[in-house]
Amino acid sequence: MATGNINVSVENIFPLIKKFLYSDHEIFLRELISNATDATLKLKHLTNIGEAKVEYGNPQIEIKIDKENKKLHIIDQGLGMSADEVEKYINQVAFSGAEEFLDKYKDGAKDAGIIGHFGLGFYSAFMVADKVEIITKSFKDDAAAHWICDGSPTFSLDIADKADRGTEIILHIAEDSTEFLEESRINELLVKYNKFMPVPIKFGTKEETLPKAEDAPEDAEAEKITVDNIINNPTPAWTKQPSELKDEDYKGFYRELYPSQFEEPLFNIHLNVDYPFNLTGILYFPRLGQDMNMQKDKIQLYQNQVFVTDNVEGIVPEFLTMLRGVIDSPDIPLNVSRSYLQADGAVKKISSYITRKVADKLNSLFKNDREDFEKKWNDIKIVIEYGMLSEDKFFEKADKFALYPTVDNTHFTFEELQEKIKDSQTDKDGKLVVLYASNKDEQHAYVQAAKDKGYEVLLLDSPIVSHLIQKLETSKENVTFVRVDSDHVDNLIKKEEETISKLSDEEKETLKTNLEKVIPSTKYTVQLEALDSTTSPFMITQPEFMRRMKEMQQTGGGGMNMFGNMPEMYNLVVNTNHELIGKIMEQNEDADRDALVKQALDLAKLSQNLLKGEDLTNFVKRSFELIK
Ligand code: ADP
Ligand code: MG
Repeated sequence: MATGNINVSVENIFPLIKKFLYSDHEIFLRELISNATDATLKLKHLTNIGEAKVEYGNPQIEIKIDKENKKLHIIDQGLGMSADEVEKYINQVAFSGAEEFLDKYKDGAKDAGIIGHFGLGFYSAFMVADKVEIITKSFKDDAAAHWICDGSPTFSLDIADKADRGTEIILHIAEDSTEFLEESRINELLVKYNKFMPVPIKFGTKEETLPKAEDAPEDAEAEKITVDNIINNPTPAWTKQPSELKDEDYKGFYRELYPSQFEEPLFNIHLNVDYPFNLTGILYFPRLGQDMNMQKDKIQLYQNQVFVTDNVEGIVPEFLTMLRGVIDSPDIPLNVSRSYLQADGAVKKISSYITRKVADKLNSLFKNDREDFEKKWNDIKIVIEYGMLSEDKFFEKADKFALYPTVDNTHFTFEELQEKIKDSQTDKDGKLVVLYASNKDEQHAYVQAAKDKGYEVLLLDSPIVSHLIQKLETSKENVTFVRVDSDHVDNLIKKEEETISKLSDEEKETLKTNLEKVIPSTKYTVQLEALDSTTSPFMITQPEFMRRMKEMQQTGGGGMNMFGNMPEMYNLVVNTNHELIGKIMEQNEDADRDALVKQALDLAKLSQNLLKGEDLTNFVKRSFELIK
């Protein structure tokens, strides 16, 4: 029997590990199962290249709880260790056997899927155990070894009588960590971290009902058998080639990932790259609609099939964090602070690769089946619009497939829209005027008025649309967006001939004075306009700029607080060429004239959804009086 000191430069590393190394104690199990997996995969590699002359077989990893004796066992059938190897790999804290293995076998082992590389994982066992034992037998001829350490920097190493190859790690669970003796807690951890690891993991047994034989009698009892409870799927979809997978496989994997999701994803993007970094994964576009709230089912980050986190901030561009799915890359530095992550070159490349892949996929969906893409638009536009706002590279690509639906459900790309309206919708400076509504019902009167003039009206109703419009106006030349109720269309769009006013300047003066007597100047600016006689006599509009700034602020415009505090101000556009204006002018009695103006104003308010409360009650009463 040999005894000795663990070779560390720090006097006592265990308290350090316990406190600082990992904030989450539960990851000890992930680390030990990763080591067991590594040991198994190393053996597989060695048998493949003929360096280990043993039968690889169908090795599995077993997790066993011994509640009575407060022990947790992690047992593998991997390559095992000789006593010398235990000395070398275990006693030297921060010496990674995994890295050594990869160095030794270089390119050949690159695809073996080895997980470890910091040489610290094993010691995470001491976060939950006050004593750890290793009983291990190498695949070579050496005798089995038994290592015991109680958390002080001393250990004992002895010969054991284990006959079959592999390693058993025994944790004597500490008083403050007895939760890890509960079956439900261990099961939870296995599902969280190990669900897709490459070596089968057994945790207890389960009953399975056998299908009845075809010739079995009606009333025959279904036969039940006890089978190993394997908690993982060792070959999840993302580890396969896209060519091996059908649409149904992708959907099946989505259900496997998010068992509580009932809705099917809209489509998926298979990520697969090995240069200049290694990354695989599948991203799904869920049905998002207008909902911008972060969901609980997020993108999961794996490293060689080990779950690491579902906080992908910094790795996946923010606008894509609304997607779901899996990313697996051994090249993402972990156990490091997030701020470091964002500055890391490899991570930046990964993030832009993902952005590019998503853009390319969207583009091919658009090109290959435009009709289907249009149908999905409502559910994916949030991601695309958000991406266009936040990533210039994505904007460039998305500009080709981003859609602008009209109120009549025709979908244009920006270029198509430009082509369509370039002759009919320009202002006096030659700028293209894009008319849009944000709500078909609320802005119905205005939409109708614009359509009657033959204009195209877009329906842009996502919550960030004001930001997007702002972005489009600055990145496109000579385009201005105007909501249909922002100004009267006749004032916006240049026409062949000017409409001539029926009123003289003097008459206009009188009219204005008469109107302002009734119309509150704190809310409305009266604008007399000579419009064509079929246009409404009174129309309320709210200037595009002011309204948009307010909206942007409500949805996180930032730094423009001044607009939020501005009172609501409207324009009252009065069409001097309308018959009603003539009638107002004709009234000799002040009271009669005022009543007409008041009624007309209320009607204008009504069509802008501004007539409320007492004003509405009075209006209804007055209207009944009128028709009596
Ligand atoms: P890393 O996995 O980063 O190399 P660990 O501290 O997790 O570091 O493990 C240290 C080393 O101990 C491993 O590289 C491996 O050589 C050895 N080891 C740990 N667990 C096992 C095991 N179950 N079977 C064989 N060797 C193991
Ligand atoms: Mg390890």
